[in-house]
Amino acid sequence: MSIISVSDLTHQYAVEGREKTLALSNVNLEIKKNEFVTLLGPSGCGKTTLMRAIGGLVSPTQGTITVNGKKVDGPNQDSAIVFQSFALMPWASVLQNVTFGLEMRGVGNKTEREHKAMAAIAQVGLKGFENKLPKELSGGMQQRVGLARALVVSTPVLLMDEPFGALDQQTRRYMQEELLRIWQEDQRTVVFVTHDMEEAIMLADKVVLMSARPGRIEEVIDVTFPRP
Ligand code: ADP
Ligand code: ADP
Repeated sequence: MSIISVSDLTHQYAVEGREKTLALSNVNLEIKKNEFVTLLGPSGCGKTTLMRAIGGLVSPTQGTITVNGKKVDGPNQDSAIVFQSFALMPWASVLQNVTFGLEMRGVGNKTEREHKAMAAIAQVGLKGFENKLPKELSGGMQQRVGLARALVVSTPVLLMDEPFGALDQQTRRYMQEELLRIWQEDQRTVVFVTHDMEEAIMLADKVVLMSARPGRIEEVIDVTFPRP
């Protein structure tokens, strides 16, 4: 059974005074519950647009997306997103950054929110760093805060937009392993955008290979060999 169903999705960006850009063209995709899917393809092929459309951040020109049995028509309770740029609030502590999403979603009271946030912070290995500011942490640690912030809202779907692109090779490798560990212990459906073939294959159950001009799915590849 699919948890994410994309049918006949087309998206054109219209920028005032510019020619329209066809970012996605008649895309169809089915993703099963608990699958780890990577969207792989060259820059500009529409990976981010597809991921954002699934998360309800882009309203497609044509087509429908359902997530968890509901039609997507805006940001919703079913998906959380991890951004490449971390997108942390620089003035707020790690704990405040992680708690914020719960507050936005109106989850529980302050004590309950902090309790959940502390658990997510521990899950990503940042216990003891709750009161640090983002700038007091390394890149890898900041991205872990970004991950904790997405995990804490307990959405069935986790959307990740080149989350490790800004990290050095060693930290990146470490974060990939951490993510697989968390995914295995937590069982969520992950859609992970990358332009790195090695990363796409290493992480995924299924690689969705996209091509540019115009944004289409070329092939969906099942990855069958065991993970590290
Ligand atoms: P990818 O994530 O694979 O790099 P994107 O989904 O970001 O691809 O972009 C797909 C196409 O849409 C590209 O041609 C890009 O230039 C264009 N595009 C992306 N975002 C916008 C935007 N906000 N306005 C106009 N064009 C955009
Ligand atoms: P990793 O993501 O593999 O932990 P990092 O480069 O992010 O790699 O950090 C390596 C380790 O160095 C961290 O796990 C942490 O213990 C320590 N560290 C990094 N930055 C700081 C900091 N600002 N304050 C305290 N410890 C830090």
